[in-house]
Amino acid sequence: MQGVEVNITDDGTLDMPDKILKQLDVVVASIHSGFKNPKEKITRRMLKAMENENVDIIAHPTGRLITKRESYDIDLEAVFDAAKKTSTVMEVNAYPERMDLRDAHVRAAVKAGVQLVISTDSHNADQLHFMKLGIGTARRGWATKSDIINTRNLKDMLRMLKH
Ligand SMILES: [Zn+2]
Repeated sequence: MQGVEVNITDDGTLDMPDKILKQLDVVVASIHSGFKNPKEKITRRMLKAMENENVDIIAHPTGRLITKRESYDIDLEAVFDAAKKTSTVMEVNAYPERMDLRDAHVRAAVKAGVQLVISTDSHNADQLHFMKLGIGTARRGWATKSDIINTRNLKDMLRMLKH
C-alpha cells in the first residue's frame, strides 16, 4: 500500500497535486500550521480539505499537543457534519502527546454518524504499541467496532475509503 499525510495549507488546498494523490491508496490530510487562525478560517480550511475527493482521512483533527499546545479553535460540529456528508474518516490519534480526537470528541463523532480510524502516528516500529491508548480513547467515547474502519480486514477497509 502507498499513502501519504499531506498538509492542509493556509487556504485549505493541499500541498501535493491531486494527480499524485489520486494514485495513492490512502490520503491523510491534516493541519500543521496557522494554529492561531480564527475559528471560521481554520474550520473553512478543514472543510475545504474534506471536500477534496482524494482525502480519505483527517488526522489529529484538533491539533493539540498535550502540555505543549492547546487545540486550535475549530467548529467540530461543522467538521463532523462535513465528514458525514463527504464520507471522510476522522482519526483517533493514539500518540501519547496527541490523543486526538479525545474521548468526548469521539462520542460526538459517533453520534454524528462519522467513521473513525485509530492510528498510532508512529515514527518508528517501537511506537506501534500506542494503539492500545487509541483503543482506550475510542472506548471512552463509546465507539464500537462498527465505528472504526481499521477493525475490518484490509480489503473491506479500503472499500470504505472515499477515493
Ligand atoms: Zn500530522
